[in-house]
Amino acid sequence: MSKVTIEGVVKRFEGHAAVAGVSLTVESGELFTLLGPSGCGKTTLLRVLAGFYQQDEGNVRFGDRLVNDVPAHKRNTGMVFQNYAVFPHMTVFENVAYGLKARKVGGQELQRRVTEALEMVKLADLKDRMPSQLSGGQQQRVALARALVIQPQLLLMDEPLSNLDAKLRIEMRTEIRRLQRQYGITTIYVTHDQEEALAISDRIAVMNQGRVEQVGSPRDIYFNPQTLFVAGFIGTTNLLPARVQGGEVRVLDQALREVKAADGDCTVTIRPEKIALGQGEISFTGHVEEALFVGSGTTVFVRTPSGQRIEVRLPNEVEPPRVGEQATFGFRRAAAAVYGAQGEVLA
Ligand code: ADP
Ligand code: MG
Repeated sequence: MSKVTIEGVVKRFEGHAAVAGVSLTVESGELFTLLGPSGCGKTTLLRVLAGFYQQDEGNVRFGDRLVNDVPAHKRNTGMVFQNYAVFPHMTVFENVAYGLKARKVGGQELQRRVTEALEMVKLADLKDRMPSQLSGGQQQRVALARALVIQPQLLLMDEPLSNLDAKLRIEMRTEIRRLQRQYGITTIYVTHDQEEALAISDRIAVMNQGRVEQVGSPRDIYFNPQTLFVAGFIGTTNLLPARVQGGEVRVLDQALREVKAADGDCTVTIRPEKIALGQGEISFTGHVEEALFVGSGTTVFVRTPSGQRIEVRLPNEVEPPRVGEQATFGFRRAAAAVYGAQGEVLA
């Protein structure tokens, strides 16, 4: 399994840079996720890695080997796509055998490797079925076995679960993670689903408009977003308009903290679960507009006198205020982050 190095990769379509200068290193055996909204360039970057697109600028290395000029079929990558596209007229076994036959593998070795790949994805018992006799999740497993059977040095997965229903999606992502760990397959996984990315990844690159905004572990990305875009994209967060005045950030008419930045507008973020009922280091009182019981807690929307709507997440041990009431909430200063006018984190 090889490490992947991406250096300053640019890919343009008709002058528009779908990938606008991306540099990343994916370690051997890592499950690395490209996460970002639709249209941010994830698929384009994955296709550059697979060799389906030639980049306009930059380098791609597998291990120490520069692969810029290596055609797709010689890169030894396994691909799994969103629309898993198994061959409908072939049995499960034949679907998985296809890539090996194309590589002139036959006889005993073909039998052995297909059986092994089918066992990896727990489909050995269904090897003689036709795809029409399989569930969506089983078909996706066939696609996975087909990618794994060639023993790729790199597994590329482009939104592989987005055609499955919610329950199956969670089951399959656990399955993919298990396989990936067990066999140490270097994997680059693409999704626009932040929860999926947080659950499955060793590290995540958050992309926006063809660029990488931040790279980090799921916890790092969630707890220390370095840009306002990442803060807003990952999880749920409140964006509170604020100001820097004489080196001090003021939010909700209170002093939050000192920062090294010039006077001007800024944004303070605070996650709903970091706000509690009652006074805090920073407090606000408002009109409770909604209180939604969501099982694991209650989501409360509060309107402040200045018109700001703030989302609060209360745990089940706390009796939530009633809709229509006035209530006071508070949070710790350290739980808030501050971002400048360019979206950069201010410390
Ligand atoms: P994502 O996978 O993150 O949704 P894509 O990589 O598919 O994003 O697309 C990134 C941008 O490049 C989008 O603006 C898209 O319209 C454009 N794009 C992608 N593929 C092509 C193509 N083959 N021709 C022209 N524009 C493309
Ligand atoms: Mg895509």
